[in-house]
Amino acid sequence: MELIRIPRIIQDTCKKHLQKGRSIGFVPTMGALHEGHLSLIKRSKMENDVTAVSIFVNPTQFGPAEDLDRYPRDIEGDSKKIRELEADVLFLPDDRMMYPTGFSTFVDVEKISGKLCGEFRPDHFKGVSTVVSKLLNIVRPTRAYFGQKDFQQSVVIKRLVKDLNFDTEVVVCPTIREHDGLAMSSRNAYLNPEQRHAATALFRCLTEASQAILSGKHSPAKVREMMHAVLSGEPLITAIEYAGVYDPETLDAVAEIKGEVLLAVAVRLGNTRLIDNMLVNT
Ligand code: AMP
Repeated sequence: MELIRIPRIIQDTCKKHLQKGRSIGFVPTMGALHEGHLSLIKRSKMENDVTAVSIFVNPTQFGPAEDLDRYPRDIEGDSKKIRELEADVLFLPDDRMMYPTGFSTFVDVEKISGKLCGEFRPDHFKGVSTVVSKLLNIVRPTRAYFGQKDFQQSVVIKRLVKDLNFDTEVVVCPTIREHDGLAMSSRNAYLNPEQRHAATALFRCLTEASQAILSGKHSPAKVREMMHAVLSGEPLITAIEYAGVYDPETLDAVAEIKGEVLLAVAVRLGNTRLIDNMLVNT
């Protein structure tokens, strides 16, 4: 595995692979890797000649009161995992490499960036869209791999790839869960044992809502009510930011349940913000 810290160098390395006719799969991450991240790397390995992984805790996607400083970091453990999976390139830039003095260009995917999580994290998707655009320009991957866990992020990225004519296929991979259903997330490390137990309410809320829809409950208001009831029943959940039934393309709340719908939820457990989602085909 080649470890590269300089954008210009990985750009040249990837260009050479492409010139030799090799496909490149790319997995952008913020590190503290878990099985969810590793599933993306495995998928990329299966579908491409070369797999590149990046680890960069992107400061522009964190709000001023958010967890940038305490975000979990484990470069040594991460490098070992990536090496074991036999990925080819690890890109590990620092803040100054990605945002040198004078940096002033941002990518903003309008409308969808302001919905769901965007209402609570106003500049989050602008930061994500900017860093992903930079990374796609640096690596020029044939395919880029993202998790369904961050559903809105995948919608925003598909939009920007289309709008800005990136020559990359966006592949969205299933959410990997713990044995009790909790979606794996680097932020789960913040939870104390009681909060970790309480966090199972997210998956419970999604599965119960999905079962209700599949067994004929077709009123979005009723399903939303049910989801809120499950989450409110957990005293350690300190806030429900949103929970409901949405259109998977526009991310608007649906007026009726038909075709494919997105169940999505964001809550706070103390200082920790958790999100999860599930697609249901009616
Ligand atoms: P992050 O390091 O949180 O920025 O995540 C990097 C990539 O891993 C994103 O595309 C996430 O959607 C994806 N990811 C995070 N958690 C999971 C999970 N539990 N299952 C599948 N993919 C995930």
